[in-house]
Amino acid sequence: MDMSVVIPVFNEANGLPELYNRVTRVLGNLNLRYEIILVDDGSTDASREIIKTFHERDPQICGLFLSRNFGHQTAISAGLHYAQGQIIVIMDADLQDPPEILPQFFSKIQEGYDVVYGIRRKRKENIWKRFTYYLFYRMLNHLSDSPMPLDSGDFCAMTRRIVDHLKAMPERHRFLRGLRAWSGYRQTGIEYERDSRYAGSSKYTLSKLFNLALDGLISFSAIPVRLIIQFGFFTAFTSFFIGLTYLVLKIFDIGTWPSGFATLFLLIAFLGGIQLITIGMIGEYVGRIHLEVKQRPLFLISEYIGIKQQT
Ligand code: UDP
Ligand code: MG
Repeated sequence: MDMSVVIPVFNEANGLPELYNRVTRVLGNLNLRYEIILVDDGSTDASREIIKTFHERDPQICGLFLSRNFGHQTAISAGLHYAQGQIIVIMDADLQDPPEILPQFFSKIQEGYDVVYGIRRKRKENIWKRFTYYLFYRMLNHLSDSPMPLDSGDFCAMTRRIVDHLKAMPERHRFLRGLRAWSGYRQTGIEYERDSRYAGSSKYTLSKLFNLALDGLISFSAIPVRLIIQFGFFTAFTSFFIGLTYLVLKIFDIGTWPSGFATLFLLIAFLGGIQLITIGMIGEYVGRIHLEVKQRPLFLISEYIGIKQQT
């Protein structure tokens, strides 16, 4: 098998025939052995039946039916698990990722890249969604401990070794585009215009989107928990110094000061700061536990020169 195309499907019955036509047309021209894995993520419409008829007509189309709706990232992970190809493509079922640029992905992989991801140059979506995406990717890029490309989603082509690494990562909150970037090797992006949905409406509810964003931020950055400590130090120190100044002024009897209130206020602020520092310290330990249980490999090797490879 040369290429596997993994496509998560959740109630996409209206768009599937067009998806089938466009993807098979593009792959047919590439002249390689391919499989298309349609991962049905617990659809309740006719998607399943349609996938079955596709397979009867064309055995290169395979179906993987999840037992219920597990979510986009999990559906893709399931598809990756069963993909046989040497090159693996991930794309959405709604044709927002145009299959027509797959030949470009393919030739970049031939050039020796391990990951080729699509960079969304333009999005045909409402302003609110465009703005939040814009902000999110910049924030993630800024906060992330490992490199994270801007404006690239799951749409990509990867070599077998990258997928094998992804499969070997046992973490359960999977932010695949992040794990993919984390893997390293030679990665590159190709810009494309993101179309609007071919049929139906977005299957990502606001809460699903929020959870995805949170997975991305929490799985790839320790900065949120560090902020607690920093904020605690800031509060404790400033209140301590204001308190000290206040005391000095009082002792030397400079100016008139309200009695009692200021002391109380500073004391509360100081103690609040101390509490934040302590919570932050506990948070730091929780962060370490989080890091350990993710069990990502410590490093990945791209090449061995003169080293006996141990298996
Ligand atoms: N999807 C899925 N499970 C879900 C939600 C979405 O498999 O719980 C699939 C959906 O069928 C589509 C892809 O994930 O192929 C992207 O979803 P969608 O287009 O709704 O997201 P958006 O592009 O609006 O962010
Ligand atoms: Mg979409």
